[in-house]
Amino acid sequence: MTSTPSADPKKMHLATALLHAGGPDGGVTPAATMVPVYQTSAFQQESAERLEGIFHNTQPGYCYTRVGNPTVSSFERRMAAIEGGVGALACASGMAATFNTIMGLCQAGDELVASSCLYGGTIELFEDLERMGVTVRRVNEVTPAELEGAVTDRTRLVFAETISNPRLGVLDVPAIAAWCHERRLPLVVDNTVASPYLCRPLELGADIVVESTSKYVNGGGNAISGIIVDSGRFSWDAERYPALAKWRKMGPFALLARLRNGLWRDTGACLAPWTAFLNCVGLETLDVRMERACDNALRLATWLCDSGLVSEVGYPGLPDAPDHELAARQFGGRYGALMTFRAGSRERAFKFVNSVRYAYRASNIGDVKTLVLHPDSTIFADNTPDERMLAGVFEDSIRVSVGIEDAGDLIEDFRQALS
Ligand SMILES: *Cc1c(COP(=O)(O)O)cnc(C)c1O
Repeated sequence: MTSTPSADPKKMHLATALLHAGGPDGGVTPAATMVPVYQTSAFQQESAERLEGIFHNTQPGYCYTRVGNPTVSSFERRMAAIEGGVGALACASGMAATFNTIMGLCQAGDELVASSCLYGGTIELFEDLERMGVTVRRVNEVTPAELEGAVTDRTRLVFAETISNPRLGVLDVPAIAAWCHERRLPLVVDNTVASPYLCRPLELGADIVVESTSKYVNGGGNAISGIIVDSGRFSWDAERYPALAKWRKMGPFALLARLRNGLWRDTGACLAPWTAFLNCVGLETLDVRMERACDNALRLATWLCDSGLVSEVGYPGLPDAPDHELAARQFGGRYGALMTFRAGSRERAFKFVNSVRYAYRASNIGDVKTLVLHPDSTIFADNTPDERMLAGVFEDSIRVSVGIEDAGDLIEDFRQALS
């Protein structure tokens, strides 16, 4: 083991924390500067007694990678430190993180309140939750007034995205967290689009963060993964959250313990060690990647507005964007790397998508490469007209996930594709 004392993430700025928070990676002698990939299904122990101890949670250790793996643990420790939680649970995808969080807290007969403007996969997941007996009540705007009309005594959580995809609405995390806590409800925030670079919702009062780390955390667009980070602050009432009753003795770790020893483990939602390694590599450059991508997005959005070639450029960094002031206050002067605009017609939108030279035509976000998409014919193909309208998706809408290319080259590429 290395003798380096683990540094306190609270004293570090983000750029340093991304590299050093969560404790040394090594664990082997001589200590490696990157966590090794423990590409193994199972772990041998030196005695039957030790295996017994691991199975009874009385001794630390690993037995089987679906339940735990040192490379995955390293990624979990780092994400917990970066997002400011007591612990984290890495999942096979962002969807697995969302599913496990909700079903870790709810059972048939329970309800949750969620924003109408959410990632399409989450909206689809809600249909299955309804089939399992969990009622989802949707609010168009996540405001106290709308939430008030949607909560009942069966509500178990409130779910929203820090920045909604693709409408790019911004959640007022402190205000909504305070409202939830007055009603003894946890606020669960999908922090995928903001990423911990723009926002750490747990520091602003949210209780649980779920995130698709396939996007900005991985950064290279090379693997699917998700994470659940718990602030450990919410006090789980045994009657309202019966699945957590026997884990309340774990204090701030109750939810993570309930998932790790139950639903998460038993639904096989584990993250592959190789992906955890790729995410550790990606996480280390989040700060520099996001700085460039956010700069590029602001420059591209400003140019698009001034160009007269498109209309309704959606980007929270533009001074007249609906949530500009809230975004400025909450995200410290950065506005993310996702933007939208309207090309004028469906034909013009398709022509733009077909004409870009640098940007890729792909439905992902958070890649270092710029990606463009026509949401209406792709990720919203299965949504109702109402859902499209709420998400701000029209037949001529384009979504851009801005990468880290040279901003001037991107502007030139967009100019030729729109001309
Ligand atoms: C991509 C995404 C998800 C789902 O994540 P996967 O890793 O693809 O399962 C959830 N929420 C948001 C906001 C996303 O962008």
